[in-house]
Amino acid sequence: NILPEAAVDRPVDLSRVKISNEVAIQITGMNKWYGTFHVLRDINMTVHRGERIVICGPSGSGKSTLIRCINRLEEHQSGQIIVDGTELTSDLKNIDKVRSEVGMVFQHFNLFPHLTILENCTLAPIWVRKVPRREAEETAMHFLEKVKIPEQAHKYPGQLSGGQQQRVAIARSLCMKPRIMLFDEPTSALDPEMIKEVLDTMIQLAEEGMTMICVTHEMGFARQVANRVIFMDQGQIVEQNEPEEFFRNPRSDRTKLFLSQIL
Ligand code: ADP
Ligand code: MG
Repeated sequence: NILPEAAVDRPVDLSRVKISNEVAIQITGMNKWYGTFHVLRDINMTVHRGERIVICGPSGSGKSTLIRCINRLEEHQSGQIIVDGTELTSDLKNIDKVRSEVGMVFQHFNLFPHLTILENCTLAPIWVRKVPRREAEETAMHFLEKVKIPEQAHKYPGQLSGGQQQRVAIARSLCMKPRIMLFDEPTSALDPEMIKEVLDTMIQLAEEGMTMICVTHEMGFARQVANRVIFMDQGQIVEQNEPEEFFRNPRSDRTKLFLSQIL
């Protein structure tokens, strides 16, 4: 088997990132149905602080559903999901607290089109976290600088390229000071020349020690950034391994088939 090509042209230095013993996410025997359709089957998964997990697998395998369960955009029906020490249950009172600790970036940016970039970034901190406006704006500018588009702060999403909009979406998530970031195919809707700038932003986050779960088909990113790659098919975790092993020695026939189709 062949290793995927690097996703970005710069060296990636994750040597300073420590993967701690502290558990950020613990999923045990988790199942989910949509009506009678068993979409997630006996999912077991532990994510430690500082880990970068890439989830891949065919379309319809349950990747989005799994990460949406982690910030409870979807409910699971059995088993346990514990995020930052809080179990996600139907009588959970402070779901907003969990959600503000778990940032999420989607394929289709989901920016508010009638708000400026700056307003997009300050909305939730002001209304959910009750941060004073001045402070929220300072934080927003800090993260817009980090994703390298502070000069776009007063424009509207429609005036930005797809890559710029996705970097705003990342900055907007960071403004809530999350401890975990979930990415659901963040580059799938982007033109090739914009994919790198978004992956580069994600890599920068990883280098700063962010705990990340990324659903992506960018196998070069997986190879350069992930400490663990998880392959899903038909609602199950089929196998997982560190990237080198995952790409060189996929164990299941389903993984081999999937990799032969995308590499
Ligand atoms: P992936 O992200 O891996 O492509 P999804 O998690 O989006 O997969 O979907 C997994 C399966 O669940 C698919 O068969 C999809 O059609 C189905 N599904 C997703 N969302 C819903 C829903 N809200 N209601 C019913 N079925 C759904
Ligand atoms: Mg999906």
